[in-house]
Amino acid sequence: MAAVTDAPPTLEAFAAAVAGCTRCPLHATRTQVVFGSGSPTADLMFVGEAPGFHEDKQGVPFVGAAGQLLGKLLAGIGLTRDDVFVANVLKCRPPGNRDPQPEEIEACESHLFRQIELIEPKVIATLGNFATKLLSGKPLGITRVHGQEQEVTLGGSRVLLYPLFHPAAALYTPRMLDVLEADFRRLPELLGREVAPPPPLQVVAPPAVEPEPVQLGLF
Ligand code: URA
Repeated sequence: MAAVTDAPPTLEAFAAAVAGCTRCPLHATRTQVVFGSGSPTADLMFVGEAPGFHEDKQGVPFVGAAGQLLGKLLAGIGLTRDDVFVANVLKCRPPGNRDPQPEEIEACESHLFRQIELIEPKVIATLGNFATKLLSGKPLGITRVHGQEQEVTLGGSRVLLYPLFHPAAALYTPRMLDVLEADFRRLPELLGREVAPPPPLQVVAPPAVEPEPVQLGLF
């Protein structure tokens, strides 16, 4: 008989389960699911948009030009790809690298939320609009919110959400690259920050019941 264990599910086991995902039509055109890569216990997690041509072929996120830039930015703060975890909103490549569609995001988002739950990062840096809007739950675009950290509850834990310009966009716009570099330099400080646990549930005491006046039976 197989041993019954209470071992928590691992990120590796979850990756194996997601490898066969058919929740949206992208499964028909992908080479493989691009689950994510890096440390399963990382304090810092990056979330991009979706795999591109090279990511789909290699099964690893951010391996093209944008990935080279991400590696360079990480080196600038003394980290490597092995120190962090890198994932995307979509785990499968949209044909022709088109934008993710709302129904694809909806089909895929629970994979990302489960990854966050298992990794329990302290800081999640969202790269570009799609990841920022999904994880903040707000429609504000990256130009408005980049570099502004906010505490949120994701995957059952408090994390600092830190929106950044997407490295692919920064590659073509030098001014955006300057901003991305400046925002990136704040990451060590954010990683050192104490994030407050979620506030305890308020237990509201029932209103005190006035004792019934004692009838003295005088009448
Ligand atoms: N590569 C990825 O894996 N994700 C992106 O968002 C862009 C390039």
